[in-house]
Amino acid sequence: MILITGATGNLGRETINFLLKKIPSSEISALIRNPDKAEDLKHKGIKLHKGDYNDYDSLIKAFKGIDKLLLISSNDFVNRVNQHINVINAAKENGVKHIYYTSGARTIDNKEIPGVKDHLETEQYLENSGINYTILKNNLYIENLPMYLGEKVLETGIYFPGTGKVAFASRTDMAEATANLLVSNEVSEKTYNFSNTEAVDFNDIASILTKITGKKIDYIEVEPNIYREQLTKIGIPTPVINLRIGFGSLFKGGFLNTPNSALEEILGHKTINVEEFLKKFYLK
Ligand code: NAP
Repeated sequence: MILITGATGNLGRETINFLLKKIPSSEISALIRNPDKAEDLKHKGIKLHKGDYNDYDSLIKAFKGIDKLLLISSNDFVNRVNQHINVINAAKENGVKHIYYTSGARTIDNKEIPGVKDHLETEQYLENSGINYTILKNNLYIENLPMYLGEKVLETGIYFPGTGKVAFASRTDMAEATANLLVSNEVSEKTYNFSNTEAVDFNDIASILTKITGKKIDYIEVEPNIYREQLTKIGIPTPVINLRIGFGSLFKGGFLNTPNSALEEILGHKTINVEEFLKKFYLK
């Protein structure tokens, strides 16, 4: 029996849909917090377990009889290492044989780099847990590109506080590859880098947008302080501004410049690239 956590989130739900093409629903369980969000999964015959990463007892109940567990990293950025540790401990207590963890792609293991600390600490805990494990180092989702580009990108161009090459990959491709690994009995590596085969920066993206829309679109790099001032004036909340400035420095540092063919090899087909995604999104 395979259990997927975060099953009512984007990656969890997509992974389950790919699993359903390979194994019967009776072999798939899901950890969910809110049954109202899981009606579709219930109708597909997935066994639902209500539980929360913060509630150890709920995890102990949910993981009974599970062989393989996909731990989807939490989206609670305050307490997520402890949440992940709860999942790993509960899995161990239940005799789960293999944990797959969705971590983050990166060029170096430096806890000072935004987003790295939680993943690194979870990976280290998992490595020392004594359970078989596979770490999936997911790069940033292509599907989130419009969020960085802004709603008016086609009118104003790309306005962002920093750029650098990032091997954005499709969440759908990651879900399919994860499902492939979950059903395989020959998972040879301890760590997989789920990135695209090519990395792009905002200048490349501006050129792609220019090509596909026929409108000249430029990337304008803004000083973080000026960016903060301008966005504050138009009422953008401070945490959102901080997040974007954080991404700007992450991109600029090249920490997500991890192009790789592992995803394509596991998929057995080409990955969705940035141009394909942008065409689908902006020319719909
Ligand atoms: P998502 O749609 O936000 O899904 C996160 C899932 O985690 C949700 O199902 C959520 O449950 C569940 N969850 C959160 N806290 C939990 C808790 N305390 N107990 C049990 N379940 C909990 O995110 P996603 O798009 O699937 O991405 C998966 C993960 O990748 C994210 O959680 C985040 O860590 C990371 N991420 C990666 C990128 C990227 O670009 N690579 C971008 C954003 C996030 P509910 O459905 O009940 O809310």
